[in-house]
Amino acid sequence: MMKANARAVFSPEGPFQLTTIERRELQPHDVLIEIKYAGICHSDIHTARGEWGPVNYPLVPGHEIAGIVTQVGSEVTKFAVGDRVGVGCMVDSCGKCVNCHKGEEQYCLSGNTGTYGAIDRYGQYTQGGYSTHIVVTEDFVVRIPDGLELDVAAPLLCAGITTYSPLRHWGAAPGKRIAVVGLGGLGHMAVKLAHAMGAEVTVLSQTWKKKEDGLRLGADHYYATNDPETFTKLAGSFDLIVNTVSAKIDISAYLSLLALDGTLVNVGAPAEPMLINVFPLILHRRSFAGSTIGGIRETQEMLDFCAEHRIAPEIEVISAKQIDEAWERILASDVRYRFVIDISTMEIE
Ligand code: NAP
Ligand code: ZN
Ligand code: ZN
Repeated sequence: MMKANARAVFSPEGPFQLTTIERRELQPHDVLIEIKYAGICHSDIHTARGEWGPVNYPLVPGHEIAGIVTQVGSEVTKFAVGDRVGVGCMVDSCGKCVNCHKGEEQYCLSGNTGTYGAIDRYGQYTQGGYSTHIVVTEDFVVRIPDGLELDVAAPLLCAGITTYSPLRHWGAAPGKRIAVVGLGGLGHMAVKLAHAMGAEVTVLSQTWKKKEDGLRLGADHYYATNDPETFTKLAGSFDLIVNTVSAKIDISAYLSLLALDGTLVNVGAPAEPMLINVFPLILHRRSFAGSTIGGIRETQEMLDFCAEHRIAPEIEVISAKQIDEAWERILASDVRYRFVIDISTMEIE
């Protein structure tokens, strides 16, 4: 076992404390990564606070990991010491089922192994990227292209792929009218990516406060959802709506904004169920769908796409001791647009 320093929560209320965790000895296909940056995803908060189910504390969150390979197992072929790499929301899957064979490891029939809060194939409890080092099998590591700095690459490993995958799946392209609900970490990536794919992009944010930002990020239009006129004005006007909101919203009202055959894909993951009125669905043959992250091959494709199109998240780099404060700001929708922890500050109290 190897030791790594980490920030963990010991209860749903937190706060974060500096701790030491164990990482397994390198197996033949493992790589050891020195983590440089870790993004903060709203899922870290849902998980750590027990909103999605029981948690084994202490928990080290973090599934937007960017770092450098510092050691490789005896049979590793894909990576070498010094490589710039990333790890996202999963660190393993069965590798044998139909979905794994398709490269959709996130939908593994046995369940993928989460980067934190899961039991891995060695029986060890996984701990995430708010830490100095991680050991991951090479098949779940991706290469960060030269054109991307490690700090901005980190959020792409979850916020980037979670929005890229449904945009590709539902065919974001010129001529498609796409709305993004919620301008947070995922939402701002959805705007940038959909714009780069050539779609006509509309931001639907709670208030008018982020209008300038929305347009600067690449949106063609921006509307506030607390303005009742928005829903009448935009009725029937989108081919695809990507809902990135972390809370329960009135989905039926948003379904009415879809055109014939339009799809609303939910990537936001509030714990509470959302009621759906079927009439907005059946009257215009609309669909309500979900999507989670993306496979490893698609994650690599997304990173290459971002490097090629010079797309990067807007980040605020924080020190490890500012995580609690950053979480409070995320909960207040006061994040512009992703917090990223500088892991070199991990040991500073
Ligand atoms: P985030 O940065 O906090 O962004 C969420 C945004 O939703 C906020 O910035 C806000 O945007 C809007 N919002 C928040 N509360 C709201 C409310 N009560 N009513 C209406 N809008 C509200 O979070 P994130 O990291 O982007 O994650 C968003 C959600 O996606 C979370 O639930 C997360 O767990 C989930 N997620 C899912 C996957 C997946 O695989 N499907 C992957 C990653 C994250 P405005 O201020 O613009 O309104
Ligand atoms: Zn995430
Ligand atoms: Zn599988």
